[in-house]
Amino acid sequence: TSGSSAVNGYNEVSVIFMLVALSPDFSWSKEVQAKLCNVFQLSKFRPLQRAAINLSMSGKDLFLVMPTGRGKSLCYQLPALCSKGFTLVIAPLVSLMEDQLMYLKSINVPAVTVNASSTKEDSKQVLAGMTDKNSPFKLLYVTPEKIAKSKLLMSKLEKAYNMGLLACIAVDEVHCCSQWGHDFRPDYKLLGILKRQFPKVPLVGLTATATSNVLKDCQKILCVQEPITLTAPFNRPNLYYEIRFKHNEDCTHQIAELIRERYKNQSGIVYVFSQKDAEVVATDLQKRNILAQPYHASMEPSDKSLVHQRWSSKKIQVVVATVAFGMGIDKADVRFVIHHTISKSIENYYQESGRAGRDDGSADCIVFFGFADIFRISTMVVMENTGQQKLKNMVAYCQNVDRCRRAMMAIHFDEVWNDDECNQMCDVCRHGNDYITMDITKHARDVVAIVEMASSMDEKLTPLKVCDAWMGKGPAKYRKTIKVTSLSRVEVESIIIHLLLHGYFSEDFSFTPYTTHFYLKLGRKAALLKNGNHSITMKMRRGMSHATVRVHKFSRRFHISCASAPGFFNDSSKF
Ligand code: ADP
Ligand code: MG
Ligand code: ZN
Repeated sequence: TSGSSAVNGYNEVSVIFMLVALSPDFSWSKEVQAKLCNVFQLSKFRPLQRAAINLSMSGKDLFLVMPTGRGKSLCYQLPALCSKGFTLVIAPLVSLMEDQLMYLKSINVPAVTVNASSTKEDSKQVLAGMTDKNSPFKLLYVTPEKIAKSKLLMSKLEKAYNMGLLACIAVDEVHCCSQWGHDFRPDYKLLGILKRQFPKVPLVGLTATATSNVLKDCQKILCVQEPITLTAPFNRPNLYYEIRFKHNEDCTHQIAELIRERYKNQSGIVYVFSQKDAEVVATDLQKRNILAQPYHASMEPSDKSLVHQRWSSKKIQVVVATVAFGMGIDKADVRFVIHHTISKSIENYYQESGRAGRDDGSADCIVFFGFADIFRISTMVVMENTGQQKLKNMVAYCQNVDRCRRAMMAIHFDEVWNDDECNQMCDVCRHGNDYITMDITKHARDVVAIVEMASSMDEKLTPLKVCDAWMGKGPAKYRKTIKVTSLSRVEVESIIIHLLLHGYFSEDFSFTPYTTHFYLKLGRKAALLKNGNHSITMKMRRGMSHATVRVHKFSRRFHISCASAPGFFNDSSKF
């Protein structure tokens, strides 16, 4: 029976199924492979994707536990394209669905939704399509509320089921079923009806939550008899995570030093923000005698593959790349991934940094955390539904000085975590209590007053202007009213970031036809500062005011104990 005899999340039955599932010889295998390349434009599967697809196409019920960003969606989207009828997808948020629908539209996969904001006309068309033998869409996204509340939808599903047109049911963020999960949604409790009404349709539950009691709970709530659980290991014990403050002038210089000294003759990636940055930083590194080349989306395909090839065969040492460099990278011995600019989310960072050390040898992941970069990215992701929140999570990760970086990632991905597992493989664990707790209430009042004053003069200030003004470098007309600070630039920046992350400031975008500007305005908590008793503290890295980053000497060789998960399911280059 499932669950009870599980070792590392797999019981014996699962393992046998898995071995079968990994086989490339199913009647659908050719079609699946072809659609992977032609529709999704991906060169190959990530770990567990093929197994998940084969299992659900064999009619098995499945829970798929994978860190965010690893590609769970493909595991139901691809089978949907290869099946008769359509796949029903339950997702918790309309914004998540819209992101997915936009993506699917861009690759010409017919997908639709019915939700509270659909027009009558749209809903009617979707409902009609459900029982249309020609399947006008392959994926139907709905919220759990819709399943719970719309009798019409349920009766259409019933009809589609009887016609053999309901291919699969995917429950995204399946941990929402359980009260033990971090994100309980009462309407998920009612989804048991699906498996009771449509017992022959395979159900796939997807989540980044690994705890077995949550999964057991979900299994019960969804009325799934004997699901197979596939779990992708999340922690990368051989990667060392480090954040450094970025000082624009010498960031490239520091990167060059690192590459020359610490990573001599070793391959790596430097991720940058824009195509222009890729060109500029690559040229700067070349000037410092480092074999580096740029890689970004506007390059000719032949040039791109040439760079990739040269790097793979160690003819060049470093690729200076935008996020366009990712697909199809399977180099195992990447010893460093340096972020010249922070990633736009922790999910992205996990993915990008995760390209290091695939051979299980030790590798470093270093982020240069720069103030101005935050706002460059913020305006770039302005149209994405969850873009600002994701960016703030990334910024909080960088700003953090007292929690193990792995612990933060684990919490973000809702993984169980035990602090000893880091083995000092992050800067926080290695350098311990290297921070001070500062009362910044007075500073907060001063800087909030600057933004308030500007707005009373009908002016908007960018974060950089706020820094300048606060440090006494702003226009003369401000100087009369401003209390100039004696804090260092880094401290000023850190405090502004802290206030933004905690809602004392918020973002005020202004759109022109050419660009988007980021201004600071007062946040919902700014008014609290009027209260004399309100106080704000923040943790700051010690000695931060002494400008540059401290160079810590440490031995780079560690004995890494092997991950406890069975080898063949590890995130290794074998897949
Ligand atoms: P999750 O739901 O697990 O958080 P997503 O399904 O949203 O992750 O996928 C995250 C990203 O990974 C997407 O950009 C997707 O295109 C990409 N991706 C998925 N599968 C693969 C693959 N086999 N190779 C390369 N990229 C992939
Ligand atoms: Mg997802
Ligand atoms: Zn740590």
